[in-house]
Amino acid sequence: MTARAGLIGAGRFGRFGGRYVPETLIPALDELEVEYARLSADPVFRAALDSTLHHYCGRPTPLYYAARLSDELGLKIYIKREDLLHTGAHKINNAIGQVFLARAMGKQRIIAETGAGQHGVATATAAAVAGLPCEVYMGAEDIIRQSLNVFRMRLLGAKVISVESGTRTLKDAINEALRDWVTNVATTFYVIGSVVGPHPYPTLVRDLQAVIGREARAQMIEQAGCLPDVAIACVGGGSNAIGLFHAFRDDPVRLIGVEAGGDGLGTGRHAATLVAGSPGVLHGAMSYLLQDEAGQVRETHSISAGLDYPGVGPEHAFLKESGRAEYAAEDDRTALDGFQLLARTEGILAALEPSHAIGHLQHVAPTLPRGASVLVGLSGRGDKDVHVIARALGEKA
Ligand SMILES: *Cc1c(COP(=O)(O)O)cnc(C)c1O
Repeated sequence: MTARAGLIGAGRFGRFGGRYVPETLIPALDELEVEYARLSADPVFRAALDSTLHHYCGRPTPLYYAARLSDELGLKIYIKREDLLHTGAHKINNAIGQVFLARAMGKQRIIAETGAGQHGVATATAAAVAGLPCEVYMGAEDIIRQSLNVFRMRLLGAKVISVESGTRTLKDAINEALRDWVTNVATTFYVIGSVVGPHPYPTLVRDLQAVIGREARAQMIEQAGCLPDVAIACVGGGSNAIGLFHAFRDDPVRLIGVEAGGDGLGTGRHAATLVAGSPGVLHGAMSYLLQDEAGQVRETHSISAGLDYPGVGPEHAFLKESGRAEYAAEDDRTALDGFQLLARTEGILAALEPSHAIGHLQHVAPTLPRGASVLVGLSGRGDKDVHVIARALGEKA
């Protein structure tokens, strides 16, 4: 393999990654890097984390051979069931890992920011089980749009802080969370929700999600007797995809990330950062982003809230430019088709995010050798999306 998907230089993936943050945050990022290195090699810490991932979250998740979907598409399709985890998606792997790190580092308070609320709910869950107070910054617009997740966070004991500045959405919530962190850095741990942000977060979150691919690789060998020809996952910030891909980085496995094409790339209303964006700095790292000619971050659209983000993790930018992974975009309509296909053939209601990957599989199946084996990352379950799906299909729910 010519291009290794590893870390090159301090906190860099090729020319991507790094730390584009105020000077005041550097000591906190250094502390996190050092403590993370120490604790991830500490058998007591690892045992506590692994035990919680097993008994509380439900790891290992099954690898499921989807016989009827395979017949329909002429492939051998294996589904990694992250949808079966506690709270219904892969986000809990990362939230538990970071909150346990925070506790072991002696931090007394957890903060996070959330857009659609899924990362907020995962963080509030992890903080509850770890016994730490949690405050979640959320744009005032998002609070209105995602009232159910706001209620969930409050039930879990978290405080949701409404952000009234700017467009009152995710990027404003991120600014407020960073401001809080700068002020309270000695006592506070900032839990980031995907493989984004300044070094060491993209590496830290990848390592916490790499359990997905580590399990799936061993399960493929045990159940199928071979590695998959293709591994495919949806990409918002990119954490579930990197988590799936990482174990296969040195294997002859084709890696495909699927972004949100929204209303279609031609309309400008989408969130296809790697497919249609360009390099730039967002949220503390050099990566790809969706920006206008003046470098202003563009508004995004996707039917799935979890993919509706104008940036992407720096390691994905590196995997794209090095050619080790490929990226495609599928629109809202295709995601709905993918959702319905999996429901009808396998009795699984997937989240709209990984439904983009199923939809893409439908598109690329005719180009793959018949009987090729495909590993699909099913990042989450669809209960959260049934109202959106009903509306999109013109039905009542
Ligand atoms: C948040 C979310 C995503 C997108 O986040 P990544 O960091 O790209 O994985 C994908 N699927 C589900 C179910 C999510 O909740």
